[in-house]
Amino acid sequence: MTGGRVNLLGLSRSALEEFFEGLGEKPFRARQLMRWVYGQGVSDFDLMTDISKKLRLRLAEIAEIRPPRIVTDQLSGDGTHKWMLRGSDDQAVETVFIPEVARRTLCISSQVGCALDCSFCSTAQQGFNRNLGTAEIVGQVWLASRQLGDRVDADERVVTNVVLMGMGEPLANYRNVVPALEILLDDFGFNLSRRRVTLSTSGLVPQMDRLARDCNVALAVSLHAPNDELRDQLVPINRRYPIAELLDACWRYTEAGLRRHITFEYVMLDKVNDSDAHARDLVRLMKHRPAKVNLIPFNPFPNTPYRRSARDRIERFREILLRSGVRATIRRTRGDDIDAACGQLVGRVEDRTRIRLGEKLISVAARP
Ligand code: SAH
Repeated sequence: MTGGRVNLLGLSRSALEEFFEGLGEKPFRARQLMRWVYGQGVSDFDLMTDISKKLRLRLAEIAEIRPPRIVTDQLSGDGTHKWMLRGSDDQAVETVFIPEVARRTLCISSQVGCALDCSFCSTAQQGFNRNLGTAEIVGQVWLASRQLGDRVDADERVVTNVVLMGMGEPLANYRNVVPALEILLDDFGFNLSRRRVTLSTSGLVPQMDRLARDCNVALAVSLHAPNDELRDQLVPINRRYPIAELLDACWRYTEAGLRRHITFEYVMLDKVNDSDAHARDLVRLMKHRPAKVNLIPFNPFPNTPYRRSARDRIERFREILLRSGVRATIRRTRGDDIDAACGQLVGRVEDRTRIRLGEKLISVAARP
């Protein structure tokens, strides 16, 4: 809110209906407004001509459509586009558009910084500042769509897919992320199918079960190691939710929504998790399961001790998975010339409180 005005970008259809009912209006006003805001990219109430003049004036007094502001805008040599966006304070997050032949994906952030402290991720180095509000999450899609000239009612959409794989752990911001997902999927919102919206998580088991019930979008899980000893180091939340528990939650997730599979992200770190033995251990976890492994060549950032596995190592690792019947792909690195690749998003996290969930959890819930 600014000056007491409510930002309608943050309200799902049911919340908007309540908002209009609170004004003594019929709930269908919510659909009318959403058609303007998401269908047409209009933010000025005065242009919403099927709404009475009186109601438009009232809306302008008490409400607003306020997207984040653009701080920087960079285009990579490969067509990847990165925006640094500022929400309601001086903090900034990053949003990346990745055009490919078959799909054009927008990668959005869910938090300013991140508390999970994964050792190979540059967002972790920023520490955690705060959760993004629903309006700030939806606002990234709204703004990028406008910048890219996308229209929800167009025959061919510019943004075909949205992934929550930017800064932050989306399931640690459950309260604000779920209404944002609802707006992405809503026919009167961005009208994206569930297959085309992917949430990536480091593995917060209770929230995965909730998500299966509340909003069963496609799920990607950051696995990165085939055993607890190694995963404890790379993804510290593993000490709270070890691999066996995490995988059980994954298979429950696929059953709940009749989803075809879960994507497992596996960052390829030279001599850390990329040996033949690691691949064979991974096969044991994934075999005969509704799983697909996505191998991500590590993207370096300043002061990291890790190095990217050699190309032939990554290919050999993939071969071992494929020969055992485990589906596996290698993620093509995009946008690394503008630091827009996986794990390179840093935004601008000022006033870092450096709450690190990893450290807190270790003391609270160390596994025997
Ligand atoms: N917190 C969520 C969302 C971030 S998604 C999650 O962990 O899934 C970003 C993906 O990029 C994750 O799979 C993450 O593990 C991976 N990643 C992080 N740092 C990376 C790096 N330096 N190189 C390649 N991939 C990285």
